[in-house]
Amino acid sequence: MLVRLTDAWADILQRHANGREQGAYPTAVRELLGEMTAAAVLMQANIKFNGALVLQIAGDGPVKLAVVEVQPDLAVRATAKVVGPVAEGDTLTQLVNVHNRGQCAITLDPLTKFPGQQPYQGVVPLYGDQAEPLSRVSEVLQHYMLQSEQLDTTLVLAANEQLAAGLLIQRLPVEGEGNLQGSFVSQANEDEIGRNEDYQRIALLASSLKREELLSLDVATILRRLFWEESLRLFEPLQGERGPRFECRCSRERVSSMIRSLGLAEANDILAEMGQIDVGCDFCSQHYRFDAVDVPQIFRDSGDQPPASGSIQ
Ligand SMILES: [Zn+2]
Repeated sequence: MLVRLTDAWADILQRHANGREQGAYPTAVRELLGEMTAAAVLMQANIKFNGALVLQIAGDGPVKLAVVEVQPDLAVRATAKVVGPVAEGDTLTQLVNVHNRGQCAITLDPLTKFPGQQPYQGVVPLYGDQAEPLSRVSEVLQHYMLQSEQLDTTLVLAANEQLAAGLLIQRLPVEGEGNLQGSFVSQANEDEIGRNEDYQRIALLASSLKREELLSLDVATILRRLFWEESLRLFEPLQGERGPRFECRCSRERVSSMIRSLGLAEANDILAEMGQIDVGCDFCSQHYRFDAVDVPQIFRDSGDQPPASGSIQ
């Protein structure tokens, strides 16, 4: 599976640059977030999960948090919180794993939940089995997918100012559902990690793709260069309304319920201090303002406003 995000990626970068005093993301952060965005879209498209897929890296360096959320219809949003100076060429370790306490989490949050159901979350550290720091997002995610899905996975990710792109190769199980039925005869032990020769060959070819090539070549050229000896069957690309695109799910209602969860006393404290409550969305930079008229309204609408002192019900 190959993804190239152009307009969606431009939207994500532009909205951040427009909404912040510090302006655009530093280059290294832009690359990190772009690679994560491409990866999250690939993973959501690959598992076809009916709910949001959230990929986040909680860092212990200058990048405190980087988050990408992809809906089942491939609507995507992403943001990174930068809290310290970032140098050009900073690696994943320098950005988010300075003290080896950075973590990568993948959350699957089903659209319809049964009562009490929690979203599924898998967490992996940013170092490998031998405690070696992983220097790329692709390595972290390959490690995660090997552990969680027990399937060989190869990822190549790259991003610049115009494009966030990724190539995902995953071996389908030989046995059970999801295999290419009857297309090849194989032995069950090929389902063990690293045992399938066809996969090994394809994965080796895929991982020879350079990041500059992924960013500069079109899909047909990439596939031809990598797999010219293989027989290829191409699927119709998902694009436009059916493809990945930027969309933010924030709304005045959602922000209202967030303020409601603070409680009336705290909301009134902020009002008294600031004159209004001003909430900015980290994903799209939309601002929501609530003044002295709006705030009581939020709590009145909820119906759970605590009774005024002394009232008897
Ligand atoms: Zn928003």
